Amino acid sequence: MDFASLNLCQPLLDALDEIGYVTPTPIQAQAIPDLIVGRDMVGCAQTGTGKTAAFALPILDAMAEDPQAGLRHIHALILCPTRELASQINDNIKQYARHLDIRSMVMFGGVSQRPQVNNLRRGVDILVATPGRLLDLISQGYVDLSHVQFLVLDEADRMLDMGFIRDIRKILAQIPEDRQSLLFSATMPRSIVELSRDMLYDPVSVSITPESATVE
Ligand code: AMP
Repeated sequence: MDFASLNLCQPLLDALDEIGYVTPTPIQAQAIPDLIVGRDMVGCAQTGTGKTAAFALPILDAMAEDPQAGLRHIHALILCPTRELASQINDNIKQYARHLDIRSMVMFGGVSQRPQVNNLRRGVDILVATPGRLLDLISQGYVDLSHVQFLVLDEADRMLDMGFIRDIRKILAQIPEDRQSLLFSATMPRSIVELSRDMLYDPVSVSITPESATVE
């Protein structure tokens, strides 16, 4: 299988070719066809499986086709537990989107908020954020989530362990219900199952064990 057979748009295929992705990883092959037609998803997968491209490519593909995307409203929100993961996801998205007119930014705590606020003011299509700083900037009136159409919770179990669950629920309340939602978690404790029941509509399940996670 190659990426072209996953029906991704040409600017994405060109970017993948340039960065040297030839074969989709198992989670990409499993997830992309369902995501591209708009299904919600719950994924049991760890970092290292190619999970970022599995969720980012279908979102970028949908945004590439959507004239609203160029308006620089936040169309996609990706929540994750740490600044390292947030930065890594944002770096990957920038690489995949290099031939598209789509802006992404990263937001996390522990650093000055000013550059992040300036970035928001310039307008972004995709926001990758840790929950605490996002909630903080929402409460200061800097973030409008009313245009979000794609929501991703990445490493949901770690966010739970770090005590972010209440922040996440407050953030979810700000996002339109008419959206595509994805939740990824390495483990599925009861609280994550409950959260996914609350936030996902008729989700497809994908599961990748570390042993099957190697690129073919
Ligand atoms: P992730 O699980 O998303 O953090 O990805 C793990 C690593 O695999 C990252 O360095 C990605 O750039 C890389 N990667 C993801 N998908 C592919 C692919 N289809 N082919 C080659 N490398 C990939």
